[in-house]
Amino acid sequence: MNESHVDNRFSSRRCPFCGSNKSSCFMDLETDMFCLGNWTYNKNYKELLNLSHKATFPIHRCAACGFRFAKYLPNTDFLDLVYDKIINMQNCNDGSENLQSYSRRMMYLGELLSCLGNHDLKILDYGCGVGVDLKILKSVNIKCIGYEPSRERLKKMIQSDLNVYSDEESLFSECPYDAIICDNVLEHVPCPNEIVGIFSKLSKKDTVLFVSVPDSNIKFFKNQKSRILKKLPLDMSLNPWEHLNYFEIKYIDRLFDNAGFSPINPNINVNIGLRQEGGGLNRLRNILASMVRLIDYAVTGRTNRNPNWLFYKYE
Ligand SMILES: [Zn+2]
Repeated sequence: MNESHVDNRFSSRRCPFCGSNKSSCFMDLETDMFCLGNWTYNKNYKELLNLSHKATFPIHRCAACGFRFAKYLPNTDFLDLVYDKIINMQNCNDGSENLQSYSRRMMYLGELLSCLGNHDLKILDYGCGVGVDLKILKSVNIKCIGYEPSRERLKKMIQSDLNVYSDEESLFSECPYDAIICDNVLEHVPCPNEIVGIFSKLSKKDTVLFVSVPDSNIKFFKNQKSRILKKLPLDMSLNPWEHLNYFEIKYIDRLFDNAGFSPINPNINVNIGLRQEGGGLNRLRNILASMVRLIDYAVTGRTNRNPNWLFYKYE
């Protein structure tokens, strides 16, 4: 890849997972490929960001551990422009303050609470966005503390009387927590290892952690590559400015294992991915795949886990 195509607002990264500086370009993305289909973006992004039409943003694959990551880290000036001028905050809020978002959050909060006792709980939502989880938990009298670095969002949440901080020191003054929520955060941060290290310091024995990141497995990337060939817009999770890290489940498990967290399955039923399908070929395909997963479970004890719905316990 040609490194001259990114300007000096971007700096080259090592593998954020293992620290190796040996990696190769796995996919090179032109701006339009990941901006055109993004409904949170204002349409005149190229002019506002002052980007050369030649600028491309590569996804690299680490030669040592295989992890995929955005090779270039945007500086804070560039990201401030993206967050202040490119992302339409109203669209973004609407994306969180809707029935689907509430229902998804209530499902994972339900599972999380089922793992905790009945005593006075203290929960941390790390990267709480516009504070939806905080509102839900507050409505059932559970103390939930939010961490959100965005000043704009923080102001609104404080106005709504939510318990939220923008500095990590304050989180330490409230720790340990009974549970930590990390919902779509780790893909955004330059050093996910550091954040997970912080979680272990904020935890006590048996602290339960919910984590969700987009599932960026090889099938996902194959699909995105074929969309590029067909000139179709990419999935919004493939965005090298906002999403710096692309996780498969094995990397998330290793990341948390290194920090003292073990995977748990709060569901009583074993998940082998068997679901209701409309019919015909889809149903047959899902049944066959579920049979393979069932055999895998019988032999190895592995259940159907997805990076966008994971629970861990601090040992
Ligand atoms: Zn690596």
